[in-house]
Amino acid sequence: MVGVKVVGLTGGIGSGKTAAARYFAAQGVVVVDTDELSHALTAPGGRAMPMLVARFGPDFQRADGALDRLRMRELVFRQPSARRELEAILHPMILEDSLAALAKARGAYAVLVVPLLFESQAYRDVVDRTLLIDCDKEVQVARVMQRSGLSESQVRAIMATQMPREDKRRLADDIIDNSGSLSELALQVEAKHRYYLSSLARARSQ
Ligand code: ATP
Repeated sequence: MVGVKVVGLTGGIGSGKTAAARYFAAQGVVVVDTDELSHALTAPGGRAMPMLVARFGPDFQRADGALDRLRMRELVFRQPSARRELEAILHPMILEDSLAALAKARGAYAVLVVPLLFESQAYRDVVDRTLLIDCDKEVQVARVMQRSGLSESQVRAIMATQMPREDKRRLADDIIDNSGSLSELALQVEAKHRYYLSSLARARSQ
């Protein structure tokens, strides 16, 4: 059982989810990041590794015991059925670990970072509100290119597979525009934090 109210934080690739989550954490809010949980599950000694090795074979495990992500990425790119099997193993574990972390969380609310929040009914059922980190498309392309070293067409191809920005904007309860500077992002997170402290605490006492 999750004791605190949960704000689901989402956004497209490179929209600034991690940066925004860091500012929430700086306000003392517990942040649970599903990407981090996924990494932990597939790190050396990770809980998912025995099942992944049993299903995909020892070639997909690196010498240090972690998942060989590059090899796995190549496989799931070629084989949609392998992607589904990988997700069938990982997704329930990530959800389970998210709920366990949220159950331990203290405070008026916690932030759960889920890149595919609007695409996943299981996570939509967990969160009380949704917060979209939104970003001007051209700014987003430039930031992802700078961070990843991918070409402009590669970045645009990835973005084309994601839910359109307009659809996300329509589904979100709250939106932060991260087209500006990091200090502008920090100010917006602080404003949302104050809003959540009052509105979610009020909702809880009703
Ligand atoms: P992903 O979906 O790929 O995990 P993300 O949504 O978590 O990405 P971040 O990693 O927070 O996005 O940001 C993407 C890149 O853009 C990072 O290099 C980050 O430092 C940079 N960035 C984020 N917000 C800003 C900003 N307001 N000004 C300048 N750079 C920014």
